[in-house]
Amino acid sequence: MARIRYDKDADLERIQKKKVAIIGYGSQGHAHALNLKESGVDVRVGLRDGSASKAKAEAAGLRVTSVRDAAAEADVVMVLAPDTAQRAIFEEHIRPGLKDGDTLMFAHGFNIHYGRIEAPAGVDVSMVAPKGPGHRVRETYQEGGGVPALLAVHQDASGEADANALAYAAAIGSARAGVLDTTFPEETKTDLFGEQAVLCGGVSELVKAGFETLVEAGYQPEVAYFECLHELKLIVDLMYRGGLSYMRYSISDTAERGDYVSGPKVVGDASKAAMKEVLAKIEDGSFAKEWIAEDEAGRPEMKAARQRERNLQIEKVGEQLRSMMPFVDPIVAPEE
Ligand code: NAD
Ligand code: MG
Repeated sequence: MARIRYDKDADLERIQKKKVAIIGYGSQGHAHALNLKESGVDVRVGLRDGSASKAKAEAAGLRVTSVRDAAAEADVVMVLAPDTAQRAIFEEHIRPGLKDGDTLMFAHGFNIHYGRIEAPAGVDVSMVAPKGPGHRVRETYQEGGGVPALLAVHQDASGEADANALAYAAAIGSARAGVLDTTFPEETKTDLFGEQAVLCGGVSELVKAGFETLVEAGYQPEVAYFECLHELKLIVDLMYRGGLSYMRYSISDTAERGDYVSGPKVVGDASKAAMKEVLAKIEDGSFAKEWIAEDEAGRPEMKAARQRERNLQIEKVGEQLRSMMPFVDPIVAPEE
């Protein structure tokens, strides 16, 4: 079984003795910065000029500097800017501030694994990747808990990269929940695969296909929405607590029978073959290459996809229904 470490295995003082720079103040950045600060770590947030996040970070009691100053001051630089922006930020603003003995950290292995960022030889390179969105990293910390994290070391110049990364994980609350060892290649490839095949891509398309099948057969879109999207959370909550077995134990026998009979027809050999293709494109680097090219071209496909998906019937029907269900805490995604 994989090694999992906790607070008792970590030496929090290691990170409390260091100056830490958090680069970026988005989903992960705000959570790391605030949790570190409350764990007694000397934190500064590095942001670009004119960043909209500056006022927010300062209002939360954090010291904000330029990315360059933050990286130069700090012993540990955690890069929490968007993956596509990290290489330019690193070359322009972070590299000049790195000295031997410093540590460069990431919350996702993308740029190191695909060779887009190469740190100087005297610098440690490690990763603490919380397995949850930033707001959960913050909320659970405030509640006395944490979000489990993956830890990896890419370059160990000091001989202390692992112990220091574990201390960082403890300071953001993750060692309360468990810190699992991985490698940069494993984290990068499994993270990309999970979001593409199952969590984001797979689930979105499954929900859409189910909704469209019912609507095309003449059933009411509102009913189709409840069956194919709304109820998904209830099922996922059961799986989260007790796996597939507990979900199947909790649903009706009829639902369980339908699960066994029809599930493998809907997601069968064809889907598994498609998943293998998805994984192959992640492993050979072509997904990353194409995404970087799309980003550099100004993201034409991404913009078109966002527009197209926002205008789907399921989104229109869903927005209306949710506005009548205050208990779901409805929220509307901002337009870009
Ligand atoms: P995000 O898009 O929410 O925030 C990025 C922040 O970076 C922005 O808010 C901004 O403050 C800053 N920024 C943007 N461009 C910049 C620039 N040119 N110079 C300086 N700062 C800039 O990003 P995120 O989702 O928090 O992702 C950060 C890292 O964490 C990524 O490596 C991501 O893969 C990883 N990660 C994210 C999640 C998640 O759930 N969001 C989970 C685990 C790991
Ligand atoms: Mg430095």
